[in-house]
Amino acid sequence: MIKHDVVVIGGGLAGMRAAVEAAERGADVAIVSKMHPVRSHSGAAQGGINAALGNREEDSTDAHTFDTVKGSDYLGDQDAIEAMCTDAPKQIIWLEHRGCIFSRLPDGKIAQRPFGGAGTPRTCYSADVTGLVILHTLWEQLERFNVKVYEEYFCTALCVEDGIGTGVVAYNMRNGELELITAKATIFATGGAGRMYAKTTNGYASTADGMGIAYKAGIPLMDMEFMQFHPTTLKENGVLMTEGARGEGAYLLNSLGERFMFKYAPNKGELASRDVVSRAEWTEILEGRGVDGCVLLDMRHLGREKILERLPQIRELALDATGKDAIDEPIPILPGAHYTMGGIETDLHGATRIPGVYAAGECACVSVHGANRLGGNSLLDTIVFGARSAAHAVEYIKSVGEVKPSTRTLKQEQDRVDELLSRTSGTRAPKMRQKMNETMSANTFIFRNEGQLEQAVKDLVAVRQEFDAGVYVMDKSKTFNTDLVSAFETDFLIDASLALAAGALARKESRGAQARTDFPDRDDENWMVHTLAFRQDGAAPKLDYSRKAKITKWQPEVRSY
Ligand SMILES: Cc1cc2nc3c(=O)[nH]c(=O)nc-3n(C[C@H](O)[C@H](O)[C@H](O)COP(=O)(O)OP(=O)(O)OC[C@H]3O[C@@H](n4cnc5c(N)ncnc54)[C@H](O)[C@@H]3O)c2cc1C
Repeated sequence: MIKHDVVVIGGGLAGMRAAVEAAERGADVAIVSKMHPVRSHSGAAQGGINAALGNREEDSTDAHTFDTVKGSDYLGDQDAIEAMCTDAPKQIIWLEHRGCIFSRLPDGKIAQRPFGGAGTPRTCYSADVTGLVILHTLWEQLERFNVKVYEEYFCTALCVEDGIGTGVVAYNMRNGELELITAKATIFATGGAGRMYAKTTNGYASTADGMGIAYKAGIPLMDMEFMQFHPTTLKENGVLMTEGARGEGAYLLNSLGERFMFKYAPNKGELASRDVVSRAEWTEILEGRGVDGCVLLDMRHLGREKILERLPQIRELALDATGKDAIDEPIPILPGAHYTMGGIETDLHGATRIPGVYAAGECACVSVHGANRLGGNSLLDTIVFGARSAAHAVEYIKSVGEVKPSTRTLKQEQDRVDELLSRTSGTRAPKMRQKMNETMSANTFIFRNEGQLEQAVKDLVAVRQEFDAGVYVMDKSKTFNTDLVSAFETDFLIDASLALAAGALARKESRGAQARTDFPDRDDENWMVHTLAFRQDGAAPKLDYSRKAKITKWQPEVRSY
């Protein structure tokens, strides 16, 4: 049996930041990750990370907090947002002191670019590879503290004994053995759930695992209906073209060559927040002013030099996928599934309802993003709440004696895997995943209505039941059984999708990323509440609205850009 004080599930930015914080505070900490940490989706983050550094007179923690509250369409908890924005400059300096290479101004200060929904340029960046640069900085810190990493271990279940978290069960992908990993505190940092959709900017590993594991253990998923569709993704493969392109001055054009965004956001244009821009693009496309099902991202006027200096990666990604060089031609783009605003319910220390269980980063819902996340706030969320959850966990474990190893959960998981592998027929997981992807993409996209959402819930309940009745894993081998791992992931994705569709159906208003054509207005009287989804076997979740959106300073106002 493996044993540590603190175990972090996930080696992306949130997981590594949590582990380094725990190590700095002297705890015995380990990371469990289904892949090598530096391959985590965080490494794909392009545009940057927000912080009111004080480089500009007009910027302040308060301004950052307000922009985030407004961006969230007033659903984000204002105390949590304030905590994040207050920690932001300290965390950037923390990273910088550990060698993170940010792009600079000629005077040596950290450069900041404009991003959507921000009142002032506030996004720190490293060209258009910010995530990778921070990921490597944190990896060096893990090495420095000798943090143990269980790589290619797939976590399947949370252990709870006498009402407190006592670690996890993980499947060692190299030899097919299940292992019990006992810990006084467990921090989930398993990333997002973009793979609920057929096309997404997310990596293949963004499959809602931590969300699904916590959900099965009785922790609610919060605000899952709010899925962010990023305005600029490639039609060919869903790959992201960073918002940094528009931050640097790129235009969006329709088939008439018109910069249409000013019709929808007279002040901010292309730099309105993402939900606004995605809806505008989709409206242009639906009304027949698209180009082959897309609109165009035009960077030509930025010039070769600026594109090569600030946006080299996306130029290459677009060239590879479309054969078009952004230096000479506009790039066809459309909105695509990008970020899961919802997730495991936590408080502003990352703590869940089960003592000793935490969540941070994209798998968590603190909630700082509310109904719509601002670009550059997610990398910040991973760093701030990675550190905060570890700080809280290290304090928490001081009051916890030895915890009981959950041999019960290990046995339950072993029985489940044995049973799965003993089946000789049934439907394979990819087939079910396809059905889930199809209904999610058709019925829970940018614009939604009751009929579509009812259809999605019905389809997803059917997929849920089919999965439970007999998902078939054809590969019976012990080494790198990706068929089995894909079945685990599909299980979690179905649960997350069902929570999303059920939440969207029940929320009879439009707010942030949830645009109901049958309820086009925001309804502050009835819906300044978070959606809490509690899992029910083989059915849609039970929904609860007892958690109200927290307001400190800013009453809801009309949101325009
Ligand atoms: C293409 C792209 C560009 C982006 N650009 C930006 C940007 O410029 N600015 C910004 O603020 N945000 C950006 N985002 C969002 C941001 O990058 C992510 O939200 C954030 O990096 C998520 O970090 P994370 O640590 O929570 O999860 P991830 O980086 O996704 O890491 C998840 C980790 O969990 C592990 N894991 C998952 N399941 C299991 C399991 N069952 N068992 C064991 N381990 C498991 C994985 O191995 C991985 O190490 C972007 C996102 C994408 C997809």
